[in-house]
Amino acid sequence: RVSRQAQPENTVIRFGDVEIGGGGTELIAGPCSIESWEQMRQTAEALQEKGVRIIRGGAFKPRTSPYDFQGLGIDGLKMMKEVADEYGLLTISEVVTPAHLEAAAPYLDIIQIGARNMQNFELLKEAGMMKLPILLKRGLAATMEEFLMAAEYIVSRGNSQVMLIERGIRTYEKWTRNTLDISAVPILKQESHLPVLVDVSHSTGRKDILLPCAKAALAAGADGVMVEVHPNPPEAWSDSEQQIDLAQFRSFADQLMDSGLWN
Ligand code: PEP
Ligand code: MN
Repeated sequence: RVSRQAQPENTVIRFGDVEIGGGGTELIAGPCSIESWEQMRQTAEALQEKGVRIIRGGAFKPRTSPYDFQGLGIDGLKMMKEVADEYGLLTISEVVTPAHLEAAAPYLDIIQIGARNMQNFELLKEAGMMKLPILLKRGLAATMEEFLMAAEYIVSRGNSQVMLIERGIRTYEKWTRNTLDISAVPILKQESHLPVLVDVSHSTGRKDILLPCAKAALAAGADGVMVEVHPNPPEAWSDSEQQIDLAQFRSFADQLMDSGLWN
């Protein structure tokens, strides 16, 4: 069970010396989509330099338009894994169908289930059979109860290594891509023992307010933050508008560190 009532102690996800949910805070960074070996290498270098230990990169992209770039698939995951091994980073990527879980697993330390699939119950059940930790994103319009029930699908099948991530919900507001629901953080921490993270990129869809949003998330008790970073955002194959470049990432990481909320 995912409820705090059922298990008062926090669930801690461990990978060697990296711990999520154990009281520290983790930054997960990387491009929206894996595009090339060189793109991943440049990103990994910047992450490693700033002490980030988990790299993200999408290979199976749930795009709004079928005509947009759909991701490099397993070839992309191989690229990310090779670079991550070279830089000593852990990997995370989204899987959109049960058929890809087994195929993607050898290249991943964490499997992401995206917002659009939060209630893909067959995918959740299969993720519940996996040995890898699952990062479950909040659905575009999911209530807290629906979010926790989706996590329950995974846990009920035997995989207790689940992390929750708030990524903004759809409201009438147009100045942000989604509305970042900061209240989700203390509510989820209170109601559940699972680690809680915040994706500041997909929630805001902007680069200029990432730092205050990340600080707010961590100050509210989040166990980590996810941010999209790309060596050349204007040329990115997806989410070009919201990704920060490597210089902006360095400054973001420095300021987050200076705040005392990360590392
Ligand atoms: C992503 O993290 O790559 C992504 C597609 O995010 P979301 O599922 O939150 O839209
Ligand atoms: Mn993206």
